[in-house]
Amino acid sequence: AETLLKVENLKKYFPIKKGLIIQRHVGDVKAVDGVSFEIYPGETLGMVGESGCGKSTLGRTILRLLEPTKGKVIFDGQTLNELSREEMRKIRSQMQMIFQDPLASLNPRMRVRDIIGEPIVIHEVLSRVEREKRVSKLLDVVGLNTHHGERYPYEFSGGQRQRIGIARALAVNPKLIICDEPVSALDVSIQAQVINLLEDLQAEFNLTYLLIAHDLAMVKHLSNRIAVMYLGKLVELTSSEELFLNPRHPYTIALLSVIPLPYPHQKKGRIILKGDTPSPVNLPSGCRFHTRCPNTQDICKVMDPELIDIGNKHFVACHLTINTYEKIKVGNSVTN
Ligand code: SF4
Ligand code: MG
Repeated sequence: AETLLKVENLKKYFPIKKGLIIQRHVGDVKAVDGVSFEIYPGETLGMVGESGCGKSTLGRTILRLLEPTKGKVIFDGQTLNELSREEMRKIRSQMQMIFQDPLASLNPRMRVRDIIGEPIVIHEVLSRVEREKRVSKLLDVVGLNTHHGERYPYEFSGGQRQRIGIARALAVNPKLIICDEPVSALDVSIQAQVINLLEDLQAEFNLTYLLIAHDLAMVKHLSNRIAVMYLGKLVELTSSEELFLNPRHPYTIALLSVIPLPYPHQKKGRIILKGDTPSPVNLPSGCRFHTRCPNTQDICKVMDPELIDIGNKHFVACHLTINTYEKIKVGNSVTN
């Protein structure tokens, strides 16, 4: 399939400086540390990992709301890092973001119709009259009424505010929407409604989603493929079904073991990972998961495993999986 978004070895480091007068660079928070993946048009890619693993930073760096430290983002054939500010402004209408906390991301002093219409003004895509029509249509599309446009964000519930955020993201006909924890601030009873809305809108407007969340069960419903992130890197990437039926990375297996769903590998019971997530300033040597992995080998402490396709575009970054795969491949060398 053609690719809508291609991310190549993307890194985002935040330098840590010390000293009041003379500032010394004493280290980096390696929030995103060499991430590569593709998103195909019309699909949803779920991006899952515990809080602090760098997934929100990844989303913002893709949109160039943060400048990448290294690596490339190619959107619709254009390398974003090479674009001027003006060119980037134009292409940004194609890539929108929905945030976790709708209240914090909506200007409290603006009426809802101006909030939703703001991207249209910024990108100068419609006349005033057409803009007002479009805002009314968008309110309808996300399940709100035209008169809601006259109100202010504080007058709405959390779920309604997220609908406003979604309407704003849709205002300029984007191709890609990065949804950063779109329902995790909402009541459980409201979450399903917003998920269903995102699903309906995807079909209606041919949208492509990068769906960032900490909850595997939540992304499963919407995602065609799922990537699992740990401490700034992808550790596994495959189709939703494959991830749930045949997870290969020990971290993924541990995440799945706590979801109350009947999958064969869960018969072993809940896997509790030892220790805390290490600091992204002092990453463990070798495989960054080795301090918590139930299967750590000597090689894991010295060698960082690459994310490798073990077959049918199931990517895994783990020495054990790769070794197993290599053995299988050698055994079946005739078929390759
Ligand atoms: Fe565990 Fe080693 Fe695999 Fe890392 S490479 S996940 S430490 S077995
Ligand atoms: Mg986050």
